[in-house]
Amino acid sequence: MKKQLIEHSLPSLKDAAKRSKEQTKIVVEDLKPSSRLLEYAKNKRYFVRTYGCQANVVDSEMIEGILQELGFIPCDDPIKSDLVILNTCAIRENAEDKVFGEVGSLKRLKDQNKEALIGLCGCMVQQTHIVEKVKQSYPQVDLIFGTHNIYRLPILLDEAIFSERRIIEIYSKEGEVIEGVPLVREDKIKAFVNIMYGCDKFCTYCIVPYTRGKQRSRRVSDILVECQELVRQGYQEITLLGQNVNAYGKDLDENLSFASLLEAVAKTGIPRLRFTTSHPWDFTREMFDVIAKYDNVMPCIHLPLQSGSDDVLRRMGRRYTSAEYKALVDELKKMIPDIALTTDIIVGFPNETDDDFEKTLEMVHYCHYDSAFTFIYSPRIGTPGAKMKDETPFEVKKARFERLVKAVEEEASKRALRYVGNVYDVLVEGSSKKKDDILSGYTETLKLVNFKGSQDLIGKIVKVKILESHTFSLIGEVAENG
Ligand code: SF4
Repeated sequence: MKKQLIEHSLPSLKDAAKRSKEQTKIVVEDLKPSSRLLEYAKNKRYFVRTYGCQANVVDSEMIEGILQELGFIPCDDPIKSDLVILNTCAIRENAEDKVFGEVGSLKRLKDQNKEALIGLCGCMVQQTHIVEKVKQSYPQVDLIFGTHNIYRLPILLDEAIFSERRIIEIYSKEGEVIEGVPLVREDKIKAFVNIMYGCDKFCTYCIVPYTRGKQRSRRVSDILVECQELVRQGYQEITLLGQNVNAYGKDLDENLSFASLLEAVAKTGIPRLRFTTSHPWDFTREMFDVIAKYDNVMPCIHLPLQSGSDDVLRRMGRRYTSAEYKALVDELKKMIPDIALTTDIIVGFPNETDDDFEKTLEMVHYCHYDSAFTFIYSPRIGTPGAKMKDETPFEVKKARFERLVKAVEEEASKRALRYVGNVYDVLVEGSSKKKDDILSGYTETLKLVNFKGSQDLIGKIVKVKILESHTFSLIGEVAENG
């Protein structure tokens, strides 16, 4: 029998696009679960699958934190679980296709365990057409909740379990910052710390400002307490996370800046500090100074280019020109000569010409990126980009994409050569699945290094001499006195 639907709130792109000038409100939530939910959750197993970016990784850590606090036990097989939650990504169409594929295959879970629950959350369900599709075609999904509704999970689960209805609750409001949600980190060496949520930039290809809402910064004091606790627990690396970290603070107090936050976190003594993602338009002089001054701020910057053509950049709403981007790269390289630069590039934005694309290739060779995430443009319903007419055939975009990948690999291989023969600090993260004496870790510049060593080096920073370079990884050996 089909379950009835309870729709608390459905997504609205119009509401999601609203922005007020009000300062961000910080709300501390106390999840008070019902006693019947606590009783129900005892010994029940859950499985959470995370698609997409690091923001989703942290959201899943919160979802797991809530579930474990309720009494659920983690399980690594969805088919043996009592509750499966898929935390989805909307950035490209193929990410959405994968989720629908998995939701389809989870019918098997319902066939063997009628009581099992399936939940969908994340950026995908912030879109009206996706929720309609799930409502119509995927009756096996019991609970749909949005990116702003995670802290409401105990209430929504309670309702989904005990009312035996399908529950939908997706807010599209501007949102506040919710503190006090528990979080479970599986990684004991490296941690992501959210410093802000949402984005106000509205680049014309991007769905994030709609799915994650208004830019909302956390208080410095809350971020510092979290980072100090990570240092106390022995974490070796923190990455400060946000859609546009260098716009941090402006929604709280005009005098707050990302550079001052970065400096405050560097002073906690965490051995390695990173941040992502930076928007070139918001990069400040003050940030250069902090990166150069503190040895624990890693010399590796992710600086999304998206296109090398001024015309395409303008139509993307990126707010910088190729000349301004180049000047930023020049300045970074002058101040921090060994800096590693990584980037994101989109190929085939509507009506990108051959000439536009050649300018992107020129930029790749100018900036000498250490690596790049490259994508073929995927129109997202509701964004201005999706309404732009596009005459360029897909085969042309694909051919450009292949040339771009080659250019990126060529630059990355050249950059990798500089490591050979030198000794670097490597944070050891684990060992190879096949050979447990082959360890892997990352340099300060985020280059993957594989080398022979004993398991007790995992979690430590070790000196490694580089013997061989490949495009995206290095082979080394523990240096004498390493
Ligand atoms: S700055 Fe980043 S997250 Fe924000 S709209 Fe642009 S691409 Fe999307």
